[in-house]
Amino acid sequence: FADRDGVIWLDGELIPWRDAKVHVLTHTLHYGMGVFEGVRAYNSSTLGTSIFRLQEHTDRLFRSAHIMRMKLPFDKETINQAQKQVVRENGLTEAYLRPMAFYGSEGMGLRADNLKAHVMVAAWNWPSYMSPEARDIGIKVRTSSYTRHHVNISMCKAKANGHYINSLLALQEALDCGCEEALLLDNEGYVAEGSGENFFLVRDGIIYTPELTSCLDGITRNTIFQLAADCGYTIKEKRLTRDEVYVADEAFFTGTAAEVLPIRELDGRKIGEGRRGPITTRLQDLYFKAVRGELADHTNWLAPVAK
Ligand code: PMP
Repeated sequence: FADRDGVIWLDGELIPWRDAKVHVLTHTLHYGMGVFEGVRAYNSSTLGTSIFRLQEHTDRLFRSAHIMRMKLPFDKETINQAQKQVVRENGLTEAYLRPMAFYGSEGMGLRADNLKAHVMVAAWNWPSYMSPEARDIGIKVRTSSYTRHHVNISMCKAKANGHYINSLLALQEALDCGCEEALLLDNEGYVAEGSGENFFLVRDGIIYTPELTSCLDGITRNTIFQLAADCGYTIKEKRLTRDEVYVADEAFFTGTAAEVLPIRELDGRKIGEGRRGPITTRLQDLYFKAVRGELADHTNWLAPVAK
């Protein structure tokens, strides 16, 4: 990934992709204290290439940094502009963007007090997070043997680098078992989220999703709330058990990378008909319209990258 053409924004400057390097004593590399975002830009027929819900992502990055007591040396507008710039300068019409704030190699050890936060923003083409057919037929999921973070162990409202060790362990386990994604439970055994997605189920026409305790406050989750309201669907936030998922009519994951991804099976049990259900299909369709600026009521979610 490092050996390619293009530019990356690092601490206020655009530098060649291959030169965007850090020292091996980079503090975040050792301890995982850093915060990041995953953002997507889509090609809109009316507005041109536009970043979806850019401000919400930047706001979450700053909230994550605040929780982790990282002082970012840039304001939000600079980080917004940096994201537009990397899409433009890399000539991308659709892109996945990765802004990240990390500590440098100014000091070592847990007690280092002279650390400086650095910020990078990269963008590349990443059309589909899983196999392209996954969004049509749905994926097979396995309940993880790894518990999702507890609210008082790591700060669940922050999208922090170190949190993803837990995600990687869960995902590797699911892949080893022939599944495509993991469903993680919280420390009390209730459904939390996927390794990088929020979770929803549908039962008797009502949509349910876990409360925002140990799952990330997902921006796609929020988008689904608004699209579901547009359709007149009811969404209830409540504790869900894994067997409520087994007997659900439909289930799906949401996330910037994964978009809206139907779940067809959990732990060897078919969910509903074992394929993408009607409410999932409707919300997925609206989501893909929303990200490309095709929903008149929601074009304010798009931030065009053109100058
Ligand atoms: N949960 C986790 C653990 C994630 O990594 C993500 C992806 N950022 C999500 C949920 C979904 O969040 P969003 O919709 O903001 O991408």
